[in-house]
Amino acid sequence: KMPSEEARAELGKSSWRLLHTMLSRFPDNPTLEQEEDLREFIRLFSILYPCGECGEHFREMLKKYPIQTSNRKSASMWGCSVHNIVNKRLGKEIYDCSTILEDYDCGCGGEEDEEEE
Ligand code: FAD
Repeated sequence: KMPSEEARAELGKSSWRLLHTMLSRFPDNPTLEQEEDLREFIRLFSILYPCGECGEHFREMLKKYPIQTSNRKSASMWGCSVHNIVNKRLGKEIYDCSTILEDYDCGCGGEEDEEEE
């Protein structure tokens, strides 16, 4: 692998991790403001993502598969599906989304400190 390819893969890996972990902690009953925050985050993420070509693909995908913000499960399933679309395009294995909520542990302990729960 070229060093630049390695950097791009590392960036992708950590970015996906952050995304999936964020979505797995998105509220079950989000307020309209929380839904708007998530939509806005994803929109800005697609614009600011440092690999320009990747962001471009991502923005195209967002048009076809808009972010789902109605609850934690929908948001997480959305993240898993779009990651799978990228996996497919890059010739990688398709991930099983059925345990997506358990697969990403933020290491932030119980949920009792989450006001929105
Ligand atoms: P990654 O795809 O990074 O996945 C990391 C880990 O997440 C996997 O090991 C697995 O445990 C888990 N995982 C895999 N699939 C899923 C899923 N569907 N849901 C949940 N968890 C899963 N690279 C390019 O070369 N061209 C691009 O156009 C491109 N676009 C990208 C767009 C975005 C928005 C992002 C975040 C990354 C993009 N990348 C792109 C990087 C690419 O997706 C990979 O991150 C990179 O190739 C490293 O792959 P990897 O095999 O380490 O696994």
